[in-house]
Order: sequence, then structure tokens, then C-alpha cells
Amino acid sequence: MIRAYQNSDFPERELYEDAIKRHVCSHCIDFGMDGKCHSIDPQGCAIFRFLPDVVTITKFVASGLKMEPYIEALRTNVCMKCKNQSSGGECKLRDGFDCGLDRYLPLVIDAMEEVQERIV
Ligand code: SF4
Ligand code: SF4
Repeated sequence: MIRAYQNSDFPERELYEDAIKRHVCSHCIDFGMDGKCHSIDPQGCAIFRFLPDVVTITKFVASGLKMEPYIEALRTNVCMKCKNQSSGGECKLRDGFDCGLDRYLPLVIDAMEEVQERIV
């Protein structure tokens, strides 16, 4: 399992959150006309809940256009500790395309890479 940043050693959080809002939320079907997120995820959108893990995954996987390694890393490092996943590895939100992180993974990666190119 990849060791994720903790909030205390994650000073770029605001930059990443801003990039997610521009790259992902602006295209998301759960983003309302009122400017608020209406995700049905009872825990809140997984992109923001697991942002440090998502940043770490995109830094370490870096497999270009191939999505499979990112999906595999997501299942191992994020879904395993998400309360929405059952002990058997099932996730109703994922099955119903209702997880923002899973649904928009390519856009999430774009957002992460935009920030990472700026801060290196
Ligand atoms: S579900 Fe996630 S990606 Fe969609 S609007 Fe809400 S916070 Fe943004
Ligand atoms: S796919 Fe399911 S288990 Fe994985 S992060 Fe999304 S809501 Fe959590």
C-alpha cells in the first residue's frame, strides 16, 4: 500500500482542491445550479475525503494514458479504507456510478497533474 500524505505534511491542499473544482466539479452531474455538491455519497465525495491518497497515487503511478494501474491503486489504497465498501469488496456507489472519484478518475488525474507540474 502506498503511504499517503497526512494533512499536516500536505501544504498544497488548497491548490489541489482548487484544481479539482475546476477540472472535475465543473463537469460533475452532482454539481448543482446553486454551486453546491449534491453527491448522494453519505460520507461526502471521495475525492475530497481521500485527497492526500489521491495525490500520492497520481505521483507514484504516473502510467500516462493507461487507466488500469490508477484504478488498481485506487482500489488498494482508497476503497479498502472507504466506509462505503463492504467487507466483501463491493461498493453500491461504484456500481451505480455514484462515486465522484471513481466516475471522474481521468479528470481527477488531469487536475492532480496540473498542480504537480506547477509545484515541481
Ligand atoms: S461529487 Fe465530487 S466531483 Fe462531483 S461536485 Fe461533488 S465534490 Fe465535486
Ligand atoms: S468507489 Fe466506493 S469504496 Fe471506492 S472510494 Fe468510491 S465510494 Fe469509496
